[in-house]
Amino acid sequence: MNFAAAYITEMRPQDILMPGPAGLCCKPGGFHIDPVRPVERAVITHGHSDHARPGHGAVLATQETLDMMRLRYGDNFAGSTQAIAYGEQIKLGDVSIKFHPAGHVLGSAQIAVSCEGTCIVASGDYKDAPDPTCAPFEVVPCDVFITEATFGLPVFRHGNAADEIKKLLASVALFPERSHLVGAYSLGKAQRVIALIREAGYDAPIYLHGAMEKITRYYESRGVALGDLRMVKGMKKADLAGTITLAPPSATSDIWTRRFPDPVTAFASGWMRVRARARQRGVELPLVISDHADWDGLTATIDATGAGEVWVTHGQEDALVHWCTAKGLTARPLDLVGYGDEDESDPVPADEDTEA
Ligand SMILES: [Zn+2]
Repeated sequence: MNFAAAYITEMRPQDILMPGPAGLCCKPGGFHIDPVRPVERAVITHGHSDHARPGHGAVLATQETLDMMRLRYGDNFAGSTQAIAYGEQIKLGDVSIKFHPAGHVLGSAQIAVSCEGTCIVASGDYKDAPDPTCAPFEVVPCDVFITEATFGLPVFRHGNAADEIKKLLASVALFPERSHLVGAYSLGKAQRVIALIREAGYDAPIYLHGAMEKITRYYESRGVALGDLRMVKGMKKADLAGTITLAPPSATSDIWTRRFPDPVTAFASGWMRVRARARQRGVELPLVISDHADWDGLTATIDATGAGEVWVTHGQEDALVHWCTAKGLTARPLDLVGYGDEDESDPVPADEDTEA
């Protein structure tokens, strides 16, 4: 190898992607990934509101993510938009980027950024567990893997979501005179829970809080079969006995629940592994169902990518950094602010019909 070639291959990862006040910045490509402040060019991993914010100049994302942003923010959520498909490669400035499924929610993507022989994968939020409502997570070999750490502690093992749904259906069978109210984040979790209920063989109507209608109908329009769905609004209290209703987590603890006969309150979240959290929220039936990888999922994924360097962000960074270091990998926490876990932040929007 001649001297010039050696020089060219020595692009350091931090010259390609660098955390900044607006989020992860790619200088040679002239864009930010999931920026938390308005920027000129944004590349967005998925539709959750902490990753997909309005007000950017240009937005590049999957069609589903763009559609979800349009549903939430209106037609003028960005100056311009461009849709990119999984597996498609696009050149931006001096880098090329490629989208791969992240298995988190419909349209969610990992973004592989390649520059002069170095590949960095920004995985956004992801899970390696099966989900009938979105494309399965794909392992992308890379030099640097950027991983979330929402459940980055060995205590977090989510188990099988289908078993949690069995618990819900057993409770429905046991208490035919009561209604079941399942708190689930409106984008992704709710549709996954409905699809899992259908997979378990339950084919009665499932009821929805009004705040979930638009996004759930959108999932159906993209070919996700969810069976007979009805709105709670206008239903008589007595007719809701023995039924299942999905609602944003915040709605399951407010006055809205008075329309249900003696409701059993459930909550579908990875946090339900922590009994104190369930108690604190007054959850009678905790369902451990998460759209984030658990400890085993995080560590298995890091292994599978073959990355020699791991950057850990949003969540419990320390334990995962320690795990990587013990394995001989270079690892560091990324100081990115503004990302949270959606299960902990799903207020019913003021403009949605909270009476529904
Ligand atoms: Zn997310």
